[in-house]
Amino acid sequence: MTSTHIAIAGAGLTGTLAGIRLARRGHEITIYERRTDPRSSVHHEGRSINLAMSTRGLDALERAGLAETVRSTGVPMHGRMIHTRSGDTAFQPYSTNPAHHLLSVDRDRLNATLLDAADSEPRVELRFDHKLVDFSLRDDTIEFEHLGNTVIEQHPVVLGADGAYSAVRTRMQRVDRFRYEQDYLEHGYKELTIAARTDGSPAIEPRVLHIWPRGGHMMIALPNPDNSFTCTLFWPFGGPDGFETIDTADEVEHIFARDFADAHELVDDLSGQYLRNPTSSLVTIHCSPWHSGGRALLLGDAAHAVVPFYGQGANAALEDVSILMDTLDSCNDEWEQAFATFFATRKPDTDALAELALDNFVEMRDKVASRRFRATAALHRVVHRLFPRQFVSLYELVTFSRTPYAQAVARARDQGRRATQIAVGLSIALVLVAGGVIGMVSVWN
Ligand code: FAD
Repeated sequence: MTSTHIAIAGAGLTGTLAGIRLARRGHEITIYERRTDPRSSVHHEGRSINLAMSTRGLDALERAGLAETVRSTGVPMHGRMIHTRSGDTAFQPYSTNPAHHLLSVDRDRLNATLLDAADSEPRVELRFDHKLVDFSLRDDTIEFEHLGNTVIEQHPVVLGADGAYSAVRTRMQRVDRFRYEQDYLEHGYKELTIAARTDGSPAIEPRVLHIWPRGGHMMIALPNPDNSFTCTLFWPFGGPDGFETIDTADEVEHIFARDFADAHELVDDLSGQYLRNPTSSLVTIHCSPWHSGGRALLLGDAAHAVVPFYGQGANAALEDVSILMDTLDSCNDEWEQAFATFFATRKPDTDALAELALDNFVEMRDKVASRRFRATAALHRVVHRLFPRQFVSLYELVTFSRTPYAQAVARARDQGRRATQIAVGLSIALVLVAGGVIGMVSVWN
């Protein structure tokens, strides 16, 4: 294997982890990031996304020796706490296995951990304030904008880890037959903070993910290590309860008093936070192919951004890096073959994830509060306890295993069919037994 000079666009989660792992394979890595080093800039209120990390992401971090550091700064979440309109709460565990939980992690902090690790790799160079603008598919040229100037660099391989609005992908879109689809949700999101109480204790249950499902819209809250909570409103942009309509302090107070009454008093300066913090959109991106020969490859959100309702976007992005490294092993770091193999194996899985994420929005904002959902979830837990290897819920497969997403969906479907057959078989048996008993009774009479 020969060492290659690789340019990575984007020093987010995917780009930094890919840089670390590729450098340890002996390649020379330069990571170019559009922003100033985020470790040196101030925190922006309302832009503090918390991630629910699970098995796929943590496994990918483990492979780089970083999982323990991340675990030590995260808060475990063992299940969902559903808040009804009347203020009642109901806990729903994520798994029958008490060791299985999500980890609430501050995305900026995780990014800083990865940047520190990348900084300490001798074969990684980080260049901030470098925005990739364009690159050539014929030679090694890559163009960046750096503090108002154009900078040209030479790298034979480019990885696009530059997020949902990827400039690497934009360049690849100019190639004949490149397919691209972006689909915006009618809902956007806005963040609010519930601070810890004055004595430092948490204002609501600390080790769970809170959900206020309200049909067409919802709010969630994830815990932070300092006992505060990052809340996210997922509301439609338009309509009577939409972000575009609710734009005065009175309207904010009114909708909270009506729909999120038990959280209303817990958010300090509610209307101030609401009016100050930005509203952002949510997009699903499908594109194909993810690579251009052995010259360029898209990874993470640049290849497959999904809406956040299964808590898997970052997990999948980090898992991309694990799968790419395994593919490079089997292809002996032959770039074109490895990129083509990676794309062919991974694409069906991220397509499956995109659908799961959209379906889960309906589940979270609507179904989790229903009796039927709770009964089905309880039944799944019972069946899983009785047949732990044969029946594993879709949520468990997606969140607490590394079963490829498309396989997880197919297996869940198959289990559903078998469960229906068993239920029908049991019903017929019951009817026959009951019929037999009635027959015997009438003979005795
Ligand atoms: P990004 O994090 O977007 O990083 C891309 C980087 O590239 C950035 O640093 C950017 O500045 C840089 N960049 C962009 N353009 C250029 C350019 N032209 N040149 C150089 N650099 C460039 N995922 C989960 O797993 N669990 C969750 O609970 C979860 N919750 C979420 C909640 C919300 C509200 C949202 C919006 C997302 C959530 N996600 C979650 C998804 C997760 O945030 C993303 O999947 C993840 O950040 C993708 O990482 P990435 O490195 O591929 O892209």
